[in-house]
Amino acid sequence: MNIILIGPPGVGKGTEAKRLASLFHIPHISTGDMFRAMFDEETELAKIAKAHINRGELVPDDLTNKMVKERLLEKDAQQGFLFDGYPRNIVQAKALDEFLNSRGEHMDAILYIDADVDLLSARIAGRRVCKSCGNVYHIQYKKPKVEGICDACHGELYQRKDDMEDTVRRRLHIYHDVTAPIIDYYKDLQAFHAIDGSGNIEETHEKVMNVIV
Ligand code: AMP
Repeated sequence: MNIILIGPPGVGKGTEAKRLASLFHIPHISTGDMFRAMFDEETELAKIAKAHINRGELVPDDLTNKMVKERLLEKDAQQGFLFDGYPRNIVQAKALDEFLNSRGEHMDAILYIDADVDLLSARIAGRRVCKSCGNVYHIQYKKPKVEGICDACHGELYQRKDDMEDTVRRRLHIYHDVTAPIIDYYKDLQAFHAIDGSGNIEETHEKVMNVIV
């Protein structure tokens, strides 16, 4: 099963991605997580990625596409994959198509989850992430049992720098300018499904399952 999840920041892509990846036994490939995992490295890619991410801008396409291609060649991605946060624009969408075509593969599901901008801003502002395992919480909608501590691994929860208010506005703006056009690119494909992400986690999951199984 090859799945792409598309949607603005804060729509619940990451949470849904983890569930689908586990259900279908495919790796959850989040380009955002891959870049963040490099933050402490001293490589050129890490430095460039960090600078762009902290400004709320996209990491350059050539670097992103190269990283993704290498990831798709890894053993665990040979029976399918789930992309969360990739492709983010037409250049990336075309690069992915070319790569899959060259392997005689195609996308099985392109899931576009969307919600109102004000709702997204509120969700992102309250988001907290575990420093150790990356689990995501929300100060209102998905509280940890103990404030500031991850339920799963007891790691410390923090607010991503790019989840702070000014950067969030820039990310939502970039999303609408740059990422939304890939909906036009995909929307006529049979694999494409638009899903309303304004409900809670369970409601969104149910809607996703209705269209893919
Ligand atoms: P995310 O965790 O998906 O919200 O991504 C966080 C940040 O990582 C984005 O705001 C971008 O700066 C960068 N990023 C993630 N995925 C991509 C991508 N496909 N292309 C370029 N930059 C990306």
